[in-house]
Amino acid sequence: MAFDPCALRPLFPILSQPAYDHPLTYLDNAATTQKPIAVLEAIQHYYSTANANVHRGSHYLSDRATNHFEQARTSLANFINAPEHSHIIWTKGTTEAINMVAYGLEHLLEKDDEILITSLEHHANLVPWQQLAFRTGARLRVIPLTSEGDWQLEYAHYFTDRTRIFAATQVSNAIGVHPPLQEMLALAKQYNAYTLVDGAQAIAHYPIDVEALDCDFYAFSGHKMYGPTGIGVLYGKSQALEVLIPYQTGGEMVHHVAYQATEFNVLPYRLEAGTPHIEGVIGLAAACEFLQSQDRAELLKWEQHLASYTYQRLFKVGGIDIYSPEKGTTLVSLTVPNIHTMDLNSYLDSKGVAVRAGSHCAHPLMAQLGIAGTLRASFACYNTLEDAERFCDALIEAIEILADD
Ligand code: PMP
Repeated sequence: MAFDPCALRPLFPILSQPAYDHPLTYLDNAATTQKPIAVLEAIQHYYSTANANVHRGSHYLSDRATNHFEQARTSLANFINAPEHSHIIWTKGTTEAINMVAYGLEHLLEKDDEILITSLEHHANLVPWQQLAFRTGARLRVIPLTSEGDWQLEYAHYFTDRTRIFAATQVSNAIGVHPPLQEMLALAKQYNAYTLVDGAQAIAHYPIDVEALDCDFYAFSGHKMYGPTGIGVLYGKSQALEVLIPYQTGGEMVHHVAYQATEFNVLPYRLEAGTPHIEGVIGLAAACEFLQSQDRAELLKWEQHLASYTYQRLFKVGGIDIYSPEKGTTLVSLTVPNIHTMDLNSYLDSKGVAVRAGSHCAHPLMAQLGIAGTLRASFACYNTLEDAERFCDALIEAIEILADD
């Protein structure tokens, strides 16, 4: 492999510290990624040179802050190939973006309308729709996995004349599966449903082109793509954003206010009430720049290589149930019969290996798989083959020790 992750590691200062006298092996990237110096510096630079509230002031610093803030919106639009900067709405993250859409579309839903999701969804792309269904009398329908255990979805019959909203993840955070998104989105369009893609797990790994996807909404979080926490994006087509009832009201999102009525602002401000997370926006634009400065195809190939290397090594060991696909994904999700994933997690942690054990905010998916949770190792561009090996070595050791208990 030509790609060398060691060249990237000095850009991520957190990775050079030990964890309990072991090298820190950070494989919890699906939960959150580490941040490159460029992101940290962009935030510090903003506070050192341009801090002021945006849009409101008419002074030097406010203009600077507003320029940086709006340039960041343009950067994000370019990053996902959105046609206009006004298609980018700043949110706290994926969760807030999806809630914004679920709240904003409520006025269009009637009793017995259908909201369709897949069985791969994170709670963030499930609970808001479930609650919307409860409030409106609509039905939440879930596309199941096939009974063959091959992680395919039996989707065709689930789209009906009553499907008003279709929401699906691009990549499962729990088991790394990619649903047939393009085909499902095309079907949803045939039935004139609004479509939302949860891009939380895709954004760091895959170049995203919202025009090619042709979805109405696309949601993602900055912290999963080397950016800060507390900032994310809701992309929407103009017509789709226009129909959303603002989920929050107050300052910034208004054009004119009288006691009798309020005239809302134009997009994107109409959906951004209050002072925004300015330094988060600046940091997120720096994260985009970091990713765009890399050969993204090479990064992806490397991350997939690490995942399939880990898969193959563990598969050879035997006695491990692996739930993620062997190829094409950037994480490995597994269980070991008769050993609790939390016990495996604790052992790995004691060796400096950070992974995640549990249901990964996907209780219904775990129930379908008949398990309580999995142990998940998820890779990012700065992970090395040694990271994958340390994970495998520590896991194999843990199994030997814990199996004897
Ligand atoms: N969807 C998916 C697929 C996720 O992995 C996550 C985060 N684990 C979310 C939604 C929620 O993201 P956030 O917590 O950043 O809002």
